[in-house]
Amino acid sequence: MSASLPISETFTSIQGEGKLTGVPSFFVRVSGCNLRCRWCDTPYASWNPEGDRVAADELVERARASGVGHAVLTGGEPMIFDEIAPLSAGLRAAGLHVTIETAGTVWREVGCDLMSLSPKLANSTPTDDPRDQDGVWAARHEERRIDLVALQRLLDADRDRQLKFVVTGPDDLGEVEGLLAQLRGWNPGDVILMPEGVTTPDPASVAWVVEACAARGWRYGNRLHIRLFGNRRGT
Ligand code: SF4
Repeated sequence: MSASLPISETFTSIQGEGKLTGVPSFFVRVSGCNLRCRWCDTPYASWNPEGDRVAADELVERARASGVGHAVLTGGEPMIFDEIAPLSAGLRAAGLHVTIETAGTVWREVGCDLMSLSPKLANSTPTDDPRDQDGVWAARHEERRIDLVALQRLLDADRDRQLKFVVTGPDDLGEVEGLLAQLRGWNPGDVILMPEGVTTPDPASVAWVVEACAARGWRYGNRLHIRLFGNRRGT
């Protein structure tokens, strides 16, 4: 492999979200995204992408040296980079379980063990955001945030998957259900509702999320890394 990718950070921590919550993992955060979520918790990989290009071979070596058995390719948006496929292949060849975390707007042929899809709801659009004075990103984001063809192709591959939705209020439930109704190949246990925010929520404020999950067989999405480390980089 000689490919390289823009990388904002790599680190070893525990997976804080989704089906593999608590699993020690080596994280590769690519820098760059085709969306601009209003509440993005990694603006240094989207709104203001930082970092240098790092060779895929070097990233595999860092993962191997970390000593953990899981790698997470996250961002930013990993799927906009051609080099993500050889990087994932290299990590798997080194014996690591690979999760790709993506908003699901881009399809490409890539091998992984868990495809973690996080389709962005209307609550993510940065309307009247001071970082987007002319509204260019709000329009672009709204146009790009859901691609049913890409989502379905990503779901069709023979591998584990999860569908994580960041929710801000009960009004989001209809949008989640409407989207799921247009997709095949998922089970209720693959669906995760994650309350928006970068602090541990007050239980009363998320009771509606618990109720919605219990009624549908979905999962409540915790953010264990926030609980353990707070909202800081490298965790
Ligand atoms: S898709 Fe992810 S990285 Fe990109 S702006 Fe949204 S939350 Fe941030």
